[in-house]
Amino acid sequence: MSSQQQYSFFQSVEKSFDKAAKFTKFDPGILEQIKACNSVYQMRFPVKRDNGSIEVIEAYRVQHSQHKSPCKGGIRFSDEVNQDEVMALASLMTYKCAIVNVPFGGGKGGIKINPRNYSVYELEKITRRYTSELVKKNFIGPGIDVPAPDYGTGEREMAWIVDTYASLKPGEIDAAGCVTGKPVTQGGVRGRKEATGLGVFYGIREVCNMPDVMKKLNLEVGIVNKTVVVQGLGNVGYHSAKFFREAGAKVVALAEYEGAIMNPDGLNEEEVFQHRKKTGSILNFPGATNLAKNTDALELECDILIPAALENVINGENAPRVKAKVIGEAANGPCTPEADDVFVKKGILCVPDMYLNAGGVTVSYFEWLKNLSHVRYGRMEKRFTENLNSHILGQIEALTGKTVSDVERKFIMHGPEEVDLVHSGLEETMISATREIMAIWLSNPEIPDMRTAAYVNAINKVATSYAELGIFP
Ligand code: NAD
Repeated sequence: MSSQQQYSFFQSVEKSFDKAAKFTKFDPGILEQIKACNSVYQMRFPVKRDNGSIEVIEAYRVQHSQHKSPCKGGIRFSDEVNQDEVMALASLMTYKCAIVNVPFGGGKGGIKINPRNYSVYELEKITRRYTSELVKKNFIGPGIDVPAPDYGTGEREMAWIVDTYASLKPGEIDAAGCVTGKPVTQGGVRGRKEATGLGVFYGIREVCNMPDVMKKLNLEVGIVNKTVVVQGLGNVGYHSAKFFREAGAKVVALAEYEGAIMNPDGLNEEEVFQHRKKTGSILNFPGATNLAKNTDALELECDILIPAALENVINGENAPRVKAKVIGEAANGPCTPEADDVFVKKGILCVPDMYLNAGGVTVSYFEWLKNLSHVRYGRMEKRFTENLNSHILGQIEALTGKTVSDVERKFIMHGPEEVDLVHSGLEETMISATREIMAIWLSNPEIPDMRTAAYVNAINKVATSYAELGIFP
């Protein structure tokens, strides 16, 4: 914890929860049960490094709530991993799943390593050993606990996990559902990789399409020409930047851990990504200006600020200098409770992590369903829909004597591919969640911010679910 922070990450989550609980009418015992982390598995295991030395690895898996099964949440590889962080992230998963109506309890995992300091072979050994430790303690399985990618992990690690799990559980027909975010060839779903960034875009777009909200912030309705700053050019930051740019916004600055760059005419995330791959740094990108410190990007004049790296990056110290009108929390926990208080005073709208970055878990849910049903989305209806559309179009053309253009024909005829259905399910989820939370916020002038409204929504849903289970009659 820095001197600027009063609370640990888990305490921050608890504090936000308590702030929202006042606006609900549930028994304090129910609220206490919802807040608690049900199971914490802390483990240590040895790994032989490529140089022959033995290193003891510290790792965690936390199951925050089993009010729905399985538990769900990513696995983080970072040297900042600690029990408090994993507990906080697992709690956020419970609330996140409730808000977007994904029927899972919250979970999270973490391995305390900086993946940059390990070879691919070493990372594979660590990931496989971590998976077998989870299997030994019954902490993983399609009906128990289903990990996914998070900071420092991606499709490659998920492929190692499913392979290890399946080899330890021969004959388990639903084994592919033990983890999500897998490559498509290993049972993944099309659209998972970009899901979190796309969800961030859909959520912010919905907020920007609300005339009353935009009026209060002195902003035009819509995304076109909005200026955007993104921190973190990893999975979530890269895709958030991509979808904002494609929708007509200008990504005026990008920050990575080694530095930040700015160009008021807009940056293309793919070109910056390629530049970083080639030179090893985001800095000195042609046409852009380097900023003195990477954190300077957070304080730039812009309409939308997207922190998409790690937690606690906007706190009581730097929040007063933030000039963005909207903050879209793509990362988990990027703004501390102290920062929230500053935003309320300054009239900055902070769109909270616990639903804004739920695109990943939403599409993970689709992937899990695909694994359990053993059939690709669209396989059954694509051809049928195309034949039907062709027939309807033929009838209309015959009756009117007119024909539609080739572009229109292609659009009308198109039967859904897997990725179309996944994106459509995600868009619907993010729009509904944004509207539900806004409705709660606007219905009670005492609710100070959108985060509190999101928590109220989550608490209502989780508490109701406990009551329906009969645990708290
Ligand atoms: P990632 O590892 O793909 O990318 C993170 C990027 O942030 C890296 O490129 C890293 O170099 C950069 N970074 C680290 N410190 C930085 C700093 N101080 N300033 C600027 N950049 C910095 O991770 P990710 O999957 O994109 O996750 C990012 C955040 O989003 C995390 O908080 C994670 O919990 C959250 N999240 C991820 C998903 C998902 O589906 N991957 C889903 C929900 C939430």
